[in-house]
Amino acid sequence: MSHWHKDCDLKHCIPVSIHGDDADSHRRRNFMIVTFGSLLSVGCGGFFDTRLLCYCLDNSRAVPSTVATLDMWVVWSLLELQVGHYMDVDPWGQPYPPHASGRSGSICGPWRFIMVCHKGDEKYIQKVYKTSHSAVSKNVCILCDASCEPSSELMYTRHGVQAPHRRTLFSTQEFIQKIVGVHTWVRLPGFHISFIQHDWLHVCDLALVPESAASALVELVNEGYWGDAGTADERLRRGYVSFISACKRAKVRSRGVVFSMFLRFDGTIFCVVCVCFFFSG
Ligand SMILES: [Zn+2]
Repeated sequence: MSHWHKDCDLKHCIPVSIHGDDADSHRRRNFMIVTFGSLLSVGCGGFFDTRLLCYCLDNSRAVPSTVATLDMWVVWSLLELQVGHYMDVDPWGQPYPPHASGRSGSICGPWRFIMVCHKGDEKYIQKVYKTSHSAVSKNVCILCDASCEPSSELMYTRHGVQAPHRRTLFSTQEFIQKIVGVHTWVRLPGFHISFIQHDWLHVCDLALVPESAASALVELVNEGYWGDAGTADERLRRGYVSFISACKRAKVRSRGVVFSMFLRFDGTIFCVVCVCFFFSG
């Protein structure tokens, strides 16, 4: 197969991924961290150990336009990497004095960097694409018409390749027209909806694992695993005591909160029972 595409030599193209994380808290301050890296990096830890920082934003210092302004610069820089040449205007098409001298010509010889993946947690994706879709809004997904209404055919919990909502996956054009409009990321030439990827680490660790653990605990309480006496909540607390002693025996520090049958709003996640199995050490 030829390495030549009609517009460029694919042998010199490096696929680039952008990763965004709207970290919930670091000593009560929230940060948004955006990094980029090559999907070809192997050895030395792969993508996660070789990526470079685009920006780290202290959310408490940001105004509504801060993220969009930073992203204008990031996307403009990606465009430069994609064409392989420094541009002589800023992201808004204006001459930019700091770049006026000594910044011209080719960036890295024949090499081109092409963005193919834009990955992030839910909050990051909501912020950069200016959407309000979440697990608790009517339309749960920015990529299709999945709904959270139990009466809807398109209920998001219908899973599998035949799930009705999968037939409503948006094209890039529909995504721009219906969901995000034209700004920052979608303005990058060649942008495609398939670039958007959810961060599976967050999906599993922050949603699926706590949900499944909570369901298992409710089942154990109903079965009387920690005794039949008292209310379900009291029995569950006995489960918590046994969980903590198991942690001690295994020399694992538990950062989990006390198990409870009461609804709890924890960040953006509703759990029937809040069980946080986050271990360290
Ligand atoms: Zn979807």
